Amino acid sequence: MLLFLDVDGVLNSDAWFARLGPHASGALCRLDPQAVARLNRVTDRPGVDVVVSSSWRLQHPWQDLQEMLEVVGFRGRIVGCTPSCEPEDFDLDEDAFWASERGLEIALWIERHLPAAGCDRGVAIVDDEGDMGFLRHRLVQTSAKTGGLQDAHVERLLRLLETPLGALPVSAMARLARDIRWEGTGGLP
Ligand SMILES: [Mg+2]
Repeated sequence: MLLFLDVDGVLNSDAWFARLGPHASGALCRLDPQAVARLNRVTDRPGVDVVVSSSWRLQHPWQDLQEMLEVVGFRGRIVGCTPSCEPEDFDLDEDAFWASERGLEIALWIERHLPAAGCDRGVAIVDDEGDMGFLRHRLVQTSAKTGGLQDAHVERLLRLLETPLGALPVSAMARLARDIRWEGTGGLP
């Protein structure tokens, strides 16, 4: 089972930042331990591996994100992060790219690490943005305005993780990816 994890708007929220006040600083402060505790309810399910799809992966190696999350109580296992893509990596017009950017990055990770014939793993995405393209049916969308990750999201994520993804529609990836940068993105154990 694979959980693609966003951070801002999932593991923090407007309410969390309001409680923190203006003088809090540093990345760890941005992680709400209550939201992390809810995330644990997902990752405590045996066989769940976490792949970071958040832009936090651009500032912190995923191994560091594992340690940072553990400081605020995370018990799960991060195995990698998605590659970072640009519009010119795809045969898509820019609007189409931005409408599905994170979904494309997630699809690339799945395509690289799981058999092309079909992903027999359950896949779920948790994010406060909707740019998931043809993986949108796997998204559980949170909101910073309503507290980030909530109990109802946990239940939906667990259900998605029980459902194998099946084959990716490769044609929908628009003859993918020229110079995708894979360094440091990890993989399945
Ligand atoms: Mg976000």
